[in-house]
Amino acid sequence: MWFDLNSNFLSQSLLYYLDNYYEALRELKAYESPLIGYFTNKTPVELLDAMNLQPVRIFAFRSSKSQQGAYERYIQTFACSWLRDILDNGLVDGYSDLNCVLFSTGTCDSLQNVSDIWQKVFPSQLTCNLTFPIRNDSAASKYLENGFKQLISFFQAQFDCPTSMDLKTSIQKFNQKRDLLNKYALLVSTGQLRYSSFAKILYFGDILHVDDFLQIFIPVFESLNTGNQSSSEEKLPRLLVSGGMWDNLNLFGIPEFNGLVADDLSFGYRNFCYTLPESDSLETYSKAQISRLPEPTVYDEGQRLKSLSKQISTHNVDGVVLLTMKFCDPDAFELVPIRKYLDSIDVPYLNLETSPDLSNIGQLQTRLAAFTELLL
Ligand code: SF4
Repeated sequence: MWFDLNSNFLSQSLLYYLDNYYEALRELKAYESPLIGYFTNKTPVELLDAMNLQPVRIFAFRSSKSQQGAYERYIQTFACSWLRDILDNGLVDGYSDLNCVLFSTGTCDSLQNVSDIWQKVFPSQLTCNLTFPIRNDSAASKYLENGFKQLISFFQAQFDCPTSMDLKTSIQKFNQKRDLLNKYALLVSTGQLRYSSFAKILYFGDILHVDDFLQIFIPVFESLNTGNQSSSEEKLPRLLVSGGMWDNLNLFGIPEFNGLVADDLSFGYRNFCYTLPESDSLETYSKAQISRLPEPTVYDEGQRLKSLSKQISTHNVDGVVLLTMKFCDPDAFELVPIRKYLDSIDVPYLNLETSPDLSNIGQLQTRLAAFTELLL
């Protein structure tokens, strides 16, 4: 049987947070650690944890109070659909429960410009910037190390951070979390857990404190890991979804995605496929951070395609869904080489373009159903 993350495994309050991101933020605010919101997966979460700060991912989560088009006063109409939704939702429900927002500059044009705009829209909110270099060499690593040092000074001045950090312990905890996510990913690949449930676990991984995440999801893993594969009679093509910073997990709950066995998403595989050296050295940490898999905003064709190829063969994938966010240039840029590559290895693919509000969900379902039928 397929497992689902229902009330047998999670408390009612956690299940409630699946649909109520802003309520979750409100609850997290009650924690001792200041909440630091972030946008991209190139965020030094271990460093924040070592300073007793809690990293919380900012989602383009809809709420009943969202005001469509509220963003128009602040950002250009051709900004990506994700950023528009961030403002449409945030302007109403707000991100005021976050103690600070960390902007990663050196990313796409949309995010690059939003730091100043954010201060105008949310004037009372503390913000800071970190430039993550796009190159991977010793000069870039040194630059990043300096950026980390500035970040440490900034947070020490703003919050009650410990003067001596235990970075090694924080890295160990996050390595343990990534290792656990890899194990869950294996359950998906072997048919013991639906990807839609795994996406929920990834969501909690992005908002809960790492200690809480491990405490809740290690026992859940142990209860799911029975070694039994799905006994479903349904024969489905094995799909992999590839893309950028997609964050609406409801998309993966549609029946047309039941064959999803793996992903290549910014906050999916690319956010848990690595292990950092367990050391207190900021230099070692910077080098390891800069060597991680590149994002579409830092395009490195060779490394990216090599990783995709590995995912396809590891999970015995029949077809790839290329998921792109409306008006996201980095997603669009990487489509061309990825398509060429998939053509060259004869792996069928389908490009689905959508926005976080899934306004074209009916069309997506029809196209996905036709694609999976072709693969059978
Ligand atoms: S990478 Fe794409 S989706 Fe993300 S902020 Fe930039 S343009 Fe928007």
